[in-house]
Amino acid sequence: MKKNTALVLKQCPCCGEKADFKYRSGSWGYYSAKHAIQCSGCGLETPWIDDKEVATPKGKPTSAEQAKAEAAGIWNRRIVENEA
Ligand SMILES: [Zn+2]
Repeated sequence: MKKNTALVLKQCPCCGEKADFKYRSGSWGYYSAKHAIQCSGCGLETPWIDDKEVATPKGKPTSAEQAKAEAAGIWNRRIVENEA
């Protein structure tokens, strides 16, 4: 089981600056809230992760925390993959 601790974001692969979470509130009935990671230095960012698009095994309800975790995973994987 994963521990529900604070998500750790790696430094930006481009400039080495700190990355932060971004949040875009949704409009109920139109689109849901989204989360992404953006570098505070150069602005590199992950795609927006829609709360609804996060996989939900066993029918668990999606949550902002899951969307943030997904965004953090994308960000941290990007470091490993290097820039395209
Ligand atoms: Zn950067």
